[in-house]
Amino acid sequence: MTMSDILHIKTCPTCGSDKIKRVVRDVTRKYKGQAYIVPKVGFYDCPNCGEKVYDHEAMLKIRAYSPAYRKVELLVEA
Ligand SMILES: [Zn+2]
Repeated sequence: MTMSDILHIKTCPTCGSDKIKRVVRDVTRKYKGQAYIVPKVGFYDCPNCGEKVYDHEAMLKIRAYSPAYRKVELLVEA
């Protein structure tokens, strides 16, 4: 991994497929068994093996939404 802000991925690092592409989706993550949703995260998704590659910006956004970093209570819809 590099520290570059923007990743330019041409092939999947896991399976080598060139079908990997950048998508923007809501991402569901879990922290201590509690799911939380990070809206509109840009990342690379490989349709071949299911690998997901998050760039630096995406990681920062995910972290910003994480209960581990936010000291506010989250309302979780069932
Ligand atoms: Zn792959």
